[in-house]
Amino acid sequence: MRALRGRLFHLKGSSFRDPKPEWYDDGLLVIDDEGLIKSFGEAHLMLHDLPDYCQAIDHRPYWILPGFVDVHTHFVQLDIIASHGESLLNWLERYTFPAEERFISPEVSKETARYFLNEMLSHGVTTASVYGSVHQTSCEALFCEAEHLGMRLLAGKTLMNRNAPEALIQHDLQSRDLEATQSLIEHWHGRKRLAYSLTPRFAPTSTDEQMRWVGEMFQASLAGNVSSGPLFLQSHLAENLDECRWVASLYPDSRSYCQVYETFQQLGPGAIYGHCIHLNDRDRALMASRGASIAFCPSSNLFLGSGLFDLDAAVSAGIKVGLGTDLGAGTSMSMFKTMLSAYQVCKLRGQALSPEGAFFLATLGGAQALGLDQLIGNFQVGKEADFQVINPVAIPLIERRFQRTTTRSEELFALLALGDERCLAATYVLGDRVVTGHAH
Ligand SMILES: [Zn+2]
Repeated sequence: MRALRGRLFHLKGSSFRDPKPEWYDDGLLVIDDEGLIKSFGEAHLMLHDLPDYCQAIDHRPYWILPGFVDVHTHFVQLDIIASHGESLLNWLERYTFPAEERFISPEVSKETARYFLNEMLSHGVTTASVYGSVHQTSCEALFCEAEHLGMRLLAGKTLMNRNAPEALIQHDLQSRDLEATQSLIEHWHGRKRLAYSLTPRFAPTSTDEQMRWVGEMFQASLAGNVSSGPLFLQSHLAENLDECRWVASLYPDSRSYCQVYETFQQLGPGAIYGHCIHLNDRDRALMASRGASIAFCPSSNLFLGSGLFDLDAAVSAGIKVGLGTDLGAGTSMSMFKTMLSAYQVCKLRGQALSPEGAFFLATLGGAQALGLDQLIGNFQVGKEADFQVINPVAIPLIERRFQRTTTRSEELFALLALGDERCLAATYVLGDRVVTGHAH
């Protein structure tokens, strides 16, 4: 058993509109030997119940928050972050595809996976849904490193067999593609805290045949035909208007872009679609009825000029939404910066995003969007103890701003707007400290 003392903050609500924040200014978080949350609450009420051998680690006056959940990112695009000047389709051709070709190398895969996960944890992100390249090696390396770190992680090898460079398509021959996916599922899905996510990049780069078997495999797993549990699925949808026009030309008989995924049985619980900017109400109702979720990737959408996601419409339709950094089009691994971009996108849409609502999207909301909220996302007893210790005043400007704040909500917003990884004192995975940060 372990215990940590500090200022506890988490969300208990069901939506970003009703996040139900809970604070314990002098709180205690008790973790059992399995790395699960045993109890939490006011320190002065709980300290006398701790056994003698359990000395609470005192993080006061730092804050203890649930680990962030990044619902959409590409580890194989780490090295093209901050590449100038393109919109989606040119971006893919000019930067993404050449960068991803390098992951045929196990060495590149391993070195990048290690760097990427360490960087994620150094930003307080403890769970993510991650795209690999088309190469099996990329996912092998990522799962291997995540297992070593004890992280809860979803990942999949990108599927792509048309409208992409020969070097990527040739590697991705139909039979090898299916075999590689099956092999990754057998080896990694349900192993420790890892899960496999079927990952067709997006409809334009998969043939009908590939789209078909992906949908069939997904549905079979939802029906209980995969012994290690239902598979996840991740893809992109309606990010940019040129892309939408392209999909319309590739699928002239389809009612909409979203309908293409429906036709191929790829909408369902555990399916999460990146962006979803250019959707209509019928598409949203369809996604909600199937239990598919959305990854809102605001910094990426602003960076590529893709458009402004309509958070209110998605949530009103009943769709679960989480926040994604979408590296490398996203401009940061920081969920603070991602929350600020989300706030700005909402502002430009004339919508309100409260600080508590933003933290909801970055923690419990992300867990809900991935269907993992029974396991992670807040401090509920029995959940996995993945959390971060934050010292907001490690940044001098936040310290100065805090001299003028009068409520917890104002403090939270200042942290959201001005914070970054310099505030991180430590990251814990299953109750074990895995990173000691700048602010320690
Ligand atoms: Zn993406």
